[in-house]
Amino acid sequence: MSEPFATPKKLSPILLGILLVVFLLSVFSLFLGFDAYLGGDAESGSTYMILGATTLALSSYVLFQTRKRVLKSALKTQPVTTTILCEKCGLKNVRDFKRGDYIFKDVESCPKCNENMMISSIYREVKEKRKIAPRLG
Ligand SMILES: [Zn+2]
Repeated sequence: MSEPFATPKKLSPILLGILLVVFLLSVFSLFLGFDAYLGGDAESGSTYMILGATTLALSSYVLFQTRKRVLKSALKTQPVTTTILCEKCGLKNVRDFKRGDYIFKDVESCPKCNENMMISSIYREVKEKRKIAPRLG
């Protein structure tokens, strides 16, 4: 009996523990059913077998679903945006977050007034349609 049992990453230990218990219970049920079959008790044998198979199917289903969700959420990482602001003329520049960016860090010089520009905010973009208010002045 070969079981393709892949342990997913980032699964909560509690859930994993519960799944393990359920999995062991189902194996135990299957074993009991098999044992009852061998002992000639076909009726309770099949009951245990069905119970074990159902629990096993359920636990693998939950595991599969959780794994899918984990993978999905890992793929759906939202982009982080850095806003650069010129303190002198108020020019705002938005670009993707780069490694090493932090708030109040001097970055590039302003294309308008040649003054040093500074990172004013770093935020994770939310997948919603937002209205960006135009800066006046
Ligand atoms: Zn400027």
